[in-house]
Amino acid sequence: MERFLYRRAPNVEAAVRTVRETTAAQCSAGATNLTDFMTLGVARPRALVDINELPERYGRIDSSATRLRLGALVRMAAAEDHPAVRARFPLIQQALALAASRQIRNMATLGGNVLQRTRCEYFRGRDFGCNKRAPGSGCAALEGVNRAHAVLGTSDKCIAAYAGDLAQALIALDATVETAGGAAGGRRLPFAQLHRLPGETPDLETTLSPGERITYIDVPAGPWTLRSRYVKVRDRESCQFALASAAIAMHLEGGLVREVRIALGGVATVPWRAREAEELLRGRRLDEATATHAAEAAFADAQARRHNAFKIPLGKRTLVRALLETQAMSVAHE
Ligand SMILES: Cc1cc2nc3c(=O)[nH]c(=O)nc-3n(C[C@H](O)[C@H](O)[C@H](O)COP(=O)(O)OP(=O)(O)OC[C@H]3O[C@@H](n4cnc5c(N)ncnc54)[C@H](O)[C@@H]3O)c2cc1C
Ligand code: SF4
Repeated sequence: MERFLYRRAPNVEAAVRTVRETTAAQCSAGATNLTDFMTLGVARPRALVDINELPERYGRIDSSATRLRLGALVRMAAAEDHPAVRARFPLIQQALALAASRQIRNMATLGGNVLQRTRCEYFRGRDFGCNKRAPGSGCAALEGVNRAHAVLGTSDKCIAAYAGDLAQALIALDATVETAGGAAGGRRLPFAQLHRLPGETPDLETTLSPGERITYIDVPAGPWTLRSRYVKVRDRESCQFALASAAIAMHLEGGLVREVRIALGGVATVPWRAREAEELLRGRRLDEATATHAAEAAFADAQARRHNAFKIPLGKRTLVRALLETQAMSVAHE
C-alpha cells in the first residue's frame, strides 16, 4: 500500500472542502471496499477523508407513513435490523441480509455499498489491460475468463458486472439520492441516474462530480413496498456476490398485477431496471407463463461472451422464481 494522508472530517462542510482542496482525495466510510482496492494498488488516493465523524446527521434512519429516509453512513447491519425496514420494506431488508457477511455489514455503510466498485478480476489485477482502471488500455475480460461478467448494458470497452445488492432494491423502489458538495453544491437525483453505463468511458462509474458525497437515500412507501422480495443466486450461500438476482415490488388487486417494479443484479453492468418486463405484467394475472414471458423480455437484449452465456437462462429463472414467490407472499394490509 502506498503512503497517503488521513484526515477526519468533523462536519460535512469540512469533508467537502478537504476532498475539493486535496489532490486525489477520496472519502472513506466503512472503508471495506476502498482499503481492499488500496491494498491491491488499484485505488491510489493521495488522501483519505474519513467521514465517520458525521453519524449524528447521516447515521440515522427516519421513517414515516410515506417514506423511509436512510442516512448514507448507516451501517448495513443497522438498516437490516431496523424495525421499519423489516416490517415495511422487506426487499431492502433481504437485499442487505444476503450481502457479504454480518461482520462486513457491521462496518460497511449504505453509501459505500451502493458506490462499491466491480469485482472484475482484471480490474483488481494490475498486470492486465482494463479500461476502467487505466482508460485506453483495453479490456482483458472480453477474451479472457468472463464467467462472472455482465450480459446486459455492456459495451465493447467493458463488460464488468455491478457487484452490489442493495442498489437493485433501491432502483426498483424508485429511491432518490441526496448529495452535498460537488459542482452543484448538493442536489437530489433519482437513484436510477446515479450509475453510468460503461459505454466508451467505463472509468466514469457514477454521475457524482468530484467532491460530491451522498448524504441521504429516500425511499417512497407504496402498496408495492410491503409485497416485495429479493432473490439472489450465487456459487455458495455465504459471503458471495450474485451470479443473478431479482428485486421485485408488487401490488396485487383482485388477483391482477396493479403495479410491479423489477430490478436485476449480477447480470448487468449497472443496477438494472427491467421496465419492459414490468410493462408486460401490469394489469395481467401473474402465473408461470406470464412470468416467463416477462423474463424473456427482460433478457431480450442480453449479449453473452464465452463463459457467461449461462447467466441468461439463470437470470430468467431467477426472475420467474422471484415474481412467483413475491406473488405468494402473505401481506396483511396491501
Ligand atoms: C468478502 C466480501 C464479500 C462481499 N459480498 C458482497 C455482497 O454479496 N453484496 C454486496 O452488496 N457487497 C458485498 N461486499 C462489498 C461490501 O458490501 C462493500 O465493501 C461495502 O458495502 C462498502 O461499504 P463501505 O462503507 O465500507 O465503503 P467504503 O469502502 O468506505 O467506500 C466505497 C466507495 O464509496 C465511496 N463512498 C463511501 N461513502 C460515500 C458517500 N457517502 N458519498 C460518496 N462516496 C462515498 C468511497 O470513496 C469509495 O470509493 C463484499 C465485500 C467483501 C470483502
Ligand atoms: S470488464 Fe471492465 S473492469 Fe473488467 S477488465 Fe474489462 S474494462 Fe476492466
